[in-house]
Amino acid sequence: MFFLLKRSFRVKTEDLKVKHKKVISLFIREVDTGSCNACEIEVANLNNPYYDVERFGIKFVASPKHADVLLITGCVTRNMLIPMIKAYENAPAPKFVLTVGDCTAECPYFKDSYAVEGPVSKHLPVHVHVPGCPPEPAQVIEGLLKLSHFADKDL
Ligand code: SF4
Repeated sequence: MFFLLKRSFRVKTEDLKVKHKKVISLFIREVDTGSCNACEIEVANLNNPYYDVERFGIKFVASPKHADVLLITGCVTRNMLIPMIKAYENAPAPKFVLTVGDCTAECPYFKDSYAVEGPVSKHLPVHVHVPGCPPEPAQVIEGLLKLSHFADKDL
């Protein structure tokens, strides 16, 4: 137990490729537009004690009305197109879109399905994209830090 308490449980900020000299607080509403849920598992890890994304002032919220960022996972399916657009419209300006996972950009596995409406960028402005299938939580944090720098210039 003593050994465990002495260890650092958090991913080290110096290991992240994006530096966080000045990070503005971001509130995120996640929208799953049709993923296989692997991206969600990695995104959920951001809140665990190892990745601890709240140390950067980044926090998940329950409503798009309280969000600065829509974090979107999955291909845009026909049934989720309108909810995604409504979530975007309900977020107060300035608002930003972070797409997580290859499905949001290219729909590599499901693009020929009758139920897929294409990549997120066809429907909404995408500010930062995090590639991977699924990306690791540290890559998602890097994407959020990039977005934070971007948002800082825009505010
Ligand atoms: S990018 Fe990969 S892990 Fe993420 S939703 Fe698509 S298939 Fe699943």
